[in-house]
Amino acid sequence: MKAAVLVIDMLNDFVHGALKVDRAQRIIPNIRKLVEHARSRKIPVIYTNDSHIKGVDREFRLWPEHAVEGTWGAEVIEELKPTEADYVVKKRRYSAFYSTHLDLLLRELDVDTLILTGLVTDVCVQHTAADAFFRGYHIIVPEDCVDSLSEERHRAALEYMKNIYGCEITKTEDLIGRL
Ligand code: ZN
Repeated sequence: MKAAVLVIDMLNDFVHGALKVDRAQRIIPNIRKLVEHARSRKIPVIYTNDSHIKGVDREFRLWPEHAVEGTWGAEVIEELKPTEADYVVKKRRYSAFYSTHLDLLLRELDVDTLILTGLVTDVCVQHTAADAFFRGYHIIVPEDCVDSLSEERHRAALEYMKNIYGCEITKTEDLIGRL
């Protein structure tokens, strides 16, 4: 197994701002623990960040304006800032694969297993899992490193990803023991 950790949309607008997810706080220490462990084991850490174009992106017909490129809201939260060794991929849609260079980067890093963390379980995490599944990656989701707007939405998405994409649902502590 050659894994990479994806940190999805842990941005100011999702944690504090325009699209604030109240439940985001509980996953921050777990993601931090996981990415620090990954860095220590030379496992790539890839941030996939919403970076929208003001007045253009169609997503703004459904959601309040958020994570506009170049603004505070589009920056990774203070607690999880990327280091020089990490990779950052900007995205404009829910899936971290859609019209980005993520797949190319993963292939160049010889990655076959994706560990998905971040926000939101039933939106960007689930769509990224779908695209990862279509491309043949093995997918692991530590359930205490992702969250949604409610427990019901969170649980339903985990169940869907497990049944439909074969995602392995686990917990941070168990996963760290294997990496
Ligand atoms: Zn967005």
